Amino acid sequence: AAKHSGRNHFRLFDEGLRTRLEVRRDCERDLSQALAEGALEMWFQPIFGRDGCSVANLEALVRWRHPVHGWVPPADLIAAAAMAGLTESLLRFILEQTCGMLCALRDRGLHDLSVAMNVSPREMAQIAVDEIVLGRLRVLGLPATALEIEITEETALDIEAVQGKLLALSRAGIRMALDDFGTGYSSLASLRQLRAGRVKIDRSLVTGLTEAEDKRGLVQAVLGLGRALGLEVVAEGVETADDLATLQSMGCPFMQGYHLGRPQPAEDILRFLDARPGADVQTRLHLRGA
Ligand code: C2E
Ligand code: MG
Ligand code: MG
Ligand code: MG
Repeated sequence: AAKHSGRNHFRLFDEGLRTRLEVRRDCERDLSQALAEGALEMWFQPIFGRDGCSVANLEALVRWRHPVHGWVPPADLIAAAAMAGLTESLLRFILEQTCGMLCALRDRGLHDLSVAMNVSPREMAQIAVDEIVLGRLRVLGLPATALEIEITEETALDIEAVQGKLLALSRAGIRMALDDFGTGYSSLASLRQLRAGRVKIDRSLVTGLTEAEDKRGLVQAVLGLGRALGLEVVAEGVETADDLATLQSMGCPFMQGYHLGRPQPAEDILRFLDARPGADVQTRLHLRGA
């Protein structure tokens, strides 16, 4: 996983703007066929409780390996979908795979394990995400509480325009998470407007926090904010044992990162969960009930 989340991203940048535009054009051209042929996949990354070993939930992350250009960064994939008029098809694919994982978890008796999918602000604005998501859950007989939606705020997001959809989703019981908190345009007001029950601290504030006083202060502040507002806080980008130990000493309730578990294909994450002793399921139930 390190291979594709690191190397290929750099390669795309290093090749220069012209090539980058060519890659985009090729992706735009090939995406429709890729979707039809099942060339896209969802991978899943575990999010852990405070102990750093009980799994609290999973995050679904889209993966596409272009036949010529290799792994396509999700942001480029989402942009290509928008250019190709495939935003809704892509969202439906992502939703289907996410629900597939939810069904697989429930088949294993892991009813308490929710799965988060990412929805970009543009997707939220352009398509009827609420109707599509709630309709699909109904057909599959899955409770809305099993699904979580992660959204990143952008200046481009017209909160007013998506307010009704966010309300419909959260009223139905879907938990909303504000992603990449502490960077870009995320603000305290957006926490309210997005009806977030969860905040994910961006990894730029988390990775290496042990050695960086400023990061520790900011993370501590977000943890305090979470306690004050009754929000669950997740630290993203836990890359080392030091990151983990420092977050644990600060009382961080949820953690995600390469040190704890990488994004992996559905079969692998299910095998990982199957291999866990029953005690971990108990811990998880306890954590979620607390
Ligand atoms: P995100 O939602 O904040 O997802 C976390 C990203 O950080 C993922 O990158 C994950 O692989 C990576 N990551 C996890 N742990 C670590 C770590 O310890 N260190 C480092 N350096 N990285 C870590 P990925 O999969 O490349 O996705 C990047 C972004 O693209 C996501 O950020 C999300 O905003 C977006 N994205 C991914 N999948 C989807 C999708 O299905 N739909 C939409 N709309 N956006 C998606
Ligand atoms: Mg996310
Ligand atoms: Mg994030
Ligand atoms: Mg991110």
